[in-house]
Amino acid sequence: MIEIKDLHKSYRMGSNSLHVLKGINFTAESGELVAIMGSSGSGKSTLLNILGMLDEADSGDYTLDGVPIKNLNETKAAKYRNKFLGFIFQSFNLINYKSALENVALPLYYQRIPRKERQERAMKYLGQVGLKEWAHHLPSELSGGQKQRVAIARAMAAEPKVLLADEPTGALDSTTSYEVMDLIQKINDQGNTILVVTHEDDIAHMCKRIIHLKDGVIEKDEKVTQVRASQYV
Ligand code: ADP
Ligand code: MG
Repeated sequence: MIEIKDLHKSYRMGSNSLHVLKGINFTAESGELVAIMGSSGSGKSTLLNILGMLDEADSGDYTLDGVPIKNLNETKAAKYRNKFLGFIFQSFNLINYKSALENVALPLYYQRIPRKERQERAMKYLGQVGLKEWAHHLPSELSGGQKQRVAIARAMAAEPKVLLADEPTGALDSTTSYEVMDLIQKINDQGNTILVVTHEDDIAHMCKRIIHLKDGVIEKDEKVTQVRASQYV
């Protein structure tokens, strides 16, 4: 599903250059649940943003579902991003003046899905995250965990091939974090490919594989026995 070869990325600031990714190689098959770990500043978000086509590498190859991701114009990039990728962020990134339902339905609008189907699909995915009763509430009326569940429903509603989550539990207490991981595990159980950036060891062990980033390279790439979050919620 995801194949990257010798990926490099530097940030230039004036005359200085910061080499963040120094040759990253990995493959993730369809249906994997992968944690990307590393200390703060190790390049986790940089890597995830490149995988999410929100940023571009300086060199190296990236193939997503058989499509080489390189030198795409913004229209093509946006098309693939919509078709292939769903995003979940630490800070939820919900629109404050729109209801939970409208937040989930919004990406479908950009995919030109008719209004009725948008509403139905948004409600279906809100139901899957257990928030049907909260559909007409604003984000300010929801708890942190509920907001993240809305964000997960929004990512899922577009039915992407890959979900990319950047510290999805970073703003949540541990019980709520486990609820969110329980949901992520259930989505993965249905066969979705998911990459989760985290710096928390317990969260990483709720995935099936852990990739450790250090000094710009993959220091370790290990399969782990998945700890189920459901036992904690
Ligand atoms: P992580 O997510 O692991 O904390 P990041 O990928 O956000 O790390 O950042 C890696 C390094 O690159 C950090 O030193 C950060 O300050 C730097 N960095 C990230 N984004 C930019 C940018 N847009 N411009 C300059 N430096 C950046
Ligand atoms: Mg980060």
